[in-house]
Amino acid sequence: MSKNLIHHMQAMLDDIREQGLYKQERPLESPQGAQVHAQCWDEDLINLCANNYLGLANHPDMVAAAHEGLDSHGFGMASVRFICGTQDIHKQLERKVADFLRMDDAILFSSCFDANGGIFEVLLGDTDAVISDSLNHASIIDGIRLSKAERYRYANNDMADLEAKLIEAQAQRFRLVVTDGVFSMDGTYADLPKICELAEKYDALVMVDDSHAIGFVGERGAGTPEFHGVEGGVHLTSGTFGKALGGASGGYITGPQAVIDMLRQRARPYLFSNSLAPPIVNATLAAIDLLEQSAALRQQLAENTAYFRRRIEQAGFDVIPGSHPIVPIMTGDALKAQQLAAELMQHGVYVTAFSFPVVPKGQARVRTQMSAAHSREQLDRAIDAFIEVGKQLQLIS
Ligand SMILES: *Cc1c(COP(=O)(O)O)cnc(C)c1O
Repeated sequence: MSKNLIHHMQAMLDDIREQGLYKQERPLESPQGAQVHAQCWDEDLINLCANNYLGLANHPDMVAAAHEGLDSHGFGMASVRFICGTQDIHKQLERKVADFLRMDDAILFSSCFDANGGIFEVLLGDTDAVISDSLNHASIIDGIRLSKAERYRYANNDMADLEAKLIEAQAQRFRLVVTDGVFSMDGTYADLPKICELAEKYDALVMVDDSHAIGFVGERGAGTPEFHGVEGGVHLTSGTFGKALGGASGGYITGPQAVIDMLRQRARPYLFSNSLAPPIVNATLAAIDLLEQSAALRQQLAENTAYFRRRIEQAGFDVIPGSHPIVPIMTGDALKAQQLAAELMQHGVYVTAFSFPVVPKGQARVRTQMSAAHSREQLDRAIDAFIEVGKQLQLIS
């Protein structure tokens, strides 16, 4: 009878396909970059859908540092951290991340998904409260599920709702407010100044997941707490090395010494999953060095973002306003978003359409992401394609 489970999966897959929600993977035959080569596709594509904000995914300094790490520290660790999987460079990277973000200490994970998956269960018991933004990343949602804490969810960036939830949670022993620093489908910033103020008022800790900010948001690239000038009011941060900081993999949590020490003792993804590979650790050290030495990549990214946003808005597209390199171009209709993405592909521009359940129904979009690696000429070609296809699909006139 259990074989019916497989038939059941097939029926569900058919259903997903029928609804136009089936996600296809498109293999690339090139490294990640401003321009990529996709399998079965003659023309190179201008890539507007990678999290490669600073263009470090195939940057020569990163590749060199990864090679160095490979030569000096080997390929893999074949151990978790506390058995025999900690090298000098793992400790160096933890120190460097903590100093970069001006926190007591940092702890590495295999991914930010694991970091968020591991933290809540360690910090909070059944007499505590976790208060979470409704648009938080899936890994925060899953991490919260694994904890016994009472759960409160507030409407996205709605500070009145957050305050109401904080009041409700006053009966609990400890309170933790958690938010993405940047909401990845919208490219909007969490209202950290107000969140920190409310957390102070209602005696809560604040945790920010800065995966879409570390390395390029804020004057030093230290992320949204720096950007908003509330570095003292954010107690914990998590983030990824899998986006701006080279895009390989790895995540971290920073915070007070006692929290980081406790995570080393109790966080299950830390205790029971392999150490980060030496080439990645060494290259991530190089990435932070690079960002500390020069603001050039951050500035280039900001310039590219401002240019693309201005021209796309002038063309008449419905864009969620802001300043973040995530630039969502709204179509409303899911089919329109798919058509826009498919047609742009024909014009040599690689973008992805997002529709329900990734975004709310009726809010389908093509999400573009700027990179410091894009040249002005590439952006112009992409914008021209958007205008041509946008007219064709009657998204603009
Ligand atoms: C990408 C992302 C993650 C996951 O990071 P990985 O290191 O790829 O697991 C977690 N949280 C947020 C907000 C993200 O954008």
